[in-house]
Amino acid sequence: MSEEHDYDLVIVGGGPAGSSAAFAAAKNGIKVALIEKENDIAETVRTSGVTWIESIKEFGIPNDCYNPIKNFSFVSPNNQVTIKDSVATAAVLDVRKTYRWLSNEAKKIGVDIFVKTNINGVLKNEQNDIVGVSGIGVNGKIIFHAKVVIDATGFTSTISKAMGFVTQWERFGAGAEYEAKVENVDSETWWLMVGQEYTPAGYAWIFPLGNNIVRIGVGVGKPESDIDPTQRLKEIIEKKLGPIEKLGKITPIEFHYGLIPNDGLSRKTVFNNLILVGDTAGQANPLVLEGIRYAIKFGRVAGQVASNAIKNKKTDEKALYPYEENWRNAIESKINSAGKVQDRWIGLSDKEWDKELDIIKELKTEEFLDFIKADFGLSNMVKLAMNHPKLAVRQLFNLVKGK
Ligand SMILES: Cc1cc2nc3c(=O)[nH]c(=O)nc-3n(C[C@H](O)[C@H](O)[C@H](O)COP(=O)(O)OP(=O)(O)OC[C@H]3O[C@@H](n4cnc5c(N)ncnc54)[C@H](O)[C@@H]3O)c2cc1C
Repeated sequence: MSEEHDYDLVIVGGGPAGSSAAFAAAKNGIKVALIEKENDIAETVRTSGVTWIESIKEFGIPNDCYNPIKNFSFVSPNNQVTIKDSVATAAVLDVRKTYRWLSNEAKKIGVDIFVKTNINGVLKNEQNDIVGVSGIGVNGKIIFHAKVVIDATGFTSTISKAMGFVTQWERFGAGAEYEAKVENVDSETWWLMVGQEYTPAGYAWIFPLGNNIVRIGVGVGKPESDIDPTQRLKEIIEKKLGPIEKLGKITPIEFHYGLIPNDGLSRKTVFNNLILVGDTAGQANPLVLEGIRYAIKFGRVAGQVASNAIKNKKTDEKALYPYEENWRNAIESKINSAGKVQDRWIGLSDKEWDKELDIIKELKTEEFLDFIKADFGLSNMVKLAMNHPKLAVRQLFNLVKGK
């Protein structure tokens, strides 16, 4: 005998996208289940957790969930630049605390959270539309019937794959990092490290969390490089490359590993009774592989649109389309522009990286931030592409705006 449940909305995946969708949908007065396969929300951390203060404020994330960052240092084999700001614009999240805060907000508003529940199948009606999911829970086989399902399973996209709507991401980033205690660190400055010795396709990083704790990591673009990020991380720590040396003694606390899609916004994200959100939808800035704020923002939109559709008793693709329209309007052109810069960056030699840092040095703080956040406003890009005094900067922004 299997355990059976009936919900208006079933969300699979208790990451930032799933918890945020659950919160918004329950707030709109429908019955919601949030399902997570691990023993607890954010049991395994798979992300470095960098995001932006502006987004943190927008989402209401509490102050004790992050370490603020004011300065942005880039280092290449023979060059270095630090962009300084007078106020903190970025932050490194305590990922576990933040993700648990998000799920708790959902729980407080009435969402039923099922942990230790691994979903591995879908239920379909005669039209082949999804009407629920099935898997293994704490008491064995478990079935959830739903009017709408949200696939928030992240990279694996379990539900969308089971429906036959998507196949495995072909282009993606693989990242490995240590959260570690170190002797010396400026807690307001992050480091991005580029060049062949750090990683042949991608970047390495030092992100401070406060209290002399940092995340040191290596990201590798696939299939561009077959380097194992874990192995490379160990090597660069052992060699004490670049700014790693200044950290002094490094004592690892926890190891993190994860995969993030980098195929652009290639997926359709609404089907009859089904929405894809977060990494499942490919909603990440390809330049620095940053997806948390999009997962939260569009998770909330997905929850809102799904709950409206359920209340209106119309949950087909057309009824759910306002979700896809919303996120595409918000980020599609920005992500496409960021993809162009990424294509340029992924092929740079060490010498070219040294030169690229000279270009970055020419940017004002707010221009650099817009750039790294993929927040390219068209008028600003056109201005930079036409009027910047340096030819190299004009060329970079011409590329971003697509000429
Ligand atoms: C190495 C690395 C570093 C990164 N650094 C940053 C960064 O600094 N800043 C940033 O903004 N983004 C970063 N990202 C990206 C960011 O982590 C993702 O964009 C974000 O986590 C997406 O959230 P999500 O909710 O869509 O998916 P996830 O966070 O992956 O959550 C999916 C959840 O679904 C659960 N799940 C999966 N399958 C099932 C199933 N079958 N049944 C039940 N539950 C299931 C998983 O256990 C997980 O809890 C990084 C990614 C990687 C890989």
